[in-house]
Amino acid sequence: MNTQPGLACSQKDILFPDDDDEFRVIVREWLTAHYTLFKVQWGDQADPRSLVFRRGWEDHLCSNGMAGLGWPEQYGGHALDLRRQAVFHEEHALCGAPLGINLIGHGILAPTLLHFGTEAQKRSHLPGILSNQVIWCQGYSEPGAGSDLAALRTRAEATATGYRLNGHKIWTSFADQADWCFVLARTDLNAPRHRGLSFMLVNMRQPGVRVSPIRQLTGEAEFCEVFFDNAEVRREDLVGEENQGWKIAMAAASYERGTYFIPRLVRFHQELMQIRQWIADRQQPGEHAQTSSLVRRWSRLAVDSHVLALKSRRALASAVSGEPPGPLGSSTKVHWSEAHQTLLALALELLGSRACLSASFADDEEAALFTHAFLWSKAETILAGTSEIQRNIIAEKVLGLPKGA
Ligand SMILES: Cc1cc2nc3c(=O)[nH]c(=O)nc-3n(C[C@H](O)[C@H](O)[C@H](O)COP(=O)(O)OP(=O)(O)OC[C@H]3O[C@@H](n4cnc5c(N)ncnc54)[C@H](O)[C@@H]3O)c2cc1C
Repeated sequence: MNTQPGLACSQKDILFPDDDDEFRVIVREWLTAHYTLFKVQWGDQADPRSLVFRRGWEDHLCSNGMAGLGWPEQYGGHALDLRRQAVFHEEHALCGAPLGINLIGHGILAPTLLHFGTEAQKRSHLPGILSNQVIWCQGYSEPGAGSDLAALRTRAEATATGYRLNGHKIWTSFADQADWCFVLARTDLNAPRHRGLSFMLVNMRQPGVRVSPIRQLTGEAEFCEVFFDNAEVRREDLVGEENQGWKIAMAAASYERGTYFIPRLVRFHQELMQIRQWIADRQQPGEHAQTSSLVRRWSRLAVDSHVLALKSRRALASAVSGEPPGPLGSSTKVHWSEAHQTLLALALELLGSRACLSASFADDEEAALFTHAFLWSKAETILAGTSEIQRNIIAEKVLGLPKGA
């Protein structure tokens, strides 16, 4: 263990040191025991980057009742408060388990239905999410509508039984795995842009839906283009009122507030600790000068890690007290995504040739994971609102600066 004062940093309970002890211990023991065994069963296929492995672990959690943490008990949930949900997410990340592939179903659609859905919609769609047998994707972005989402052109025309959907979505994560998609579509061409949109649930397993995966920098194809060509939407799959979809989509985006950053924050901290070890390994007596600039760069990232933990705690506290989501979330998003890119650039520098030669997970797991994270992190300043858009929000809503031309 390194004892350099410049590299000191604690590793456990990043979000709530010494809090919620008994619950935390139970969760930790369960997750550690199950994830360890699960990995052993997968042998050399236990690659946390692989979608199949991630789905397998998510299925395991769901089939053992570790889903629906915050849902009411009447829908099969555990009705845990936000603090305990946060502890679960923190422990899940600390034990090294990867995120699942039905994050959109569990984290966005389920709370949206619980809030805006009819009783019939809840009874129809929540069980498939709870069991993880139904995977969901989110169909908002289009080639001409990303940051400016209200420019979307996918059209839903009313029919005798519901709607006929035509349009082109893009960057739809997990669309090729998904059974259902929640879509924002235009139902009134004459209304002002935000007012003519509806939020609807679309069955992906029908002839009018075509999915075309897009290969990413990492070599995987986690997101896709989706083409709707006279796809059918049943009337009972319209969520909320017709033309009120914008309000629902904005609310949906806020449901993960308080917990979204927890696994990312833990990962950041774990990666920071790994880098600390590499720097420490390079420190020979009398060679401090060579590593001091690395220590300085690492220390800045350690400050980032600490500040991000404070920001996450603040977001959680405000969510717990029932305050509506505010623009400060934009500050956490920009800070985390940009600091994470800086951290991974440092990691790749330290890995050197190992990063270039790490094609095989089996040969060099550590280098393979860091290289994958480095490549993936390029998306982090784009997804869920680009850094430029977040800065616009901070400028206008936090600092009160005038709107740009
Ligand atoms: C990994 C990943 C997963 C995704 N998953 C999904 C998904 O599941 N479902 C879904 O619907 N979408 C998804 N997206 C899409 C994502 O929401 C959009 O990429 C994002 O909103 C940006 O839109 P755009 O790509 O169309 O870029 P554009 O909006 O075209 O922006 C292009 C550039 O212009 C800048 N820009 C645009 N407007 C302004 C402005 N007003 N001021 C300053 N700069 C501006 C942007 O910051 C950006 O640099 C995903 C994206 C990624 C990267």
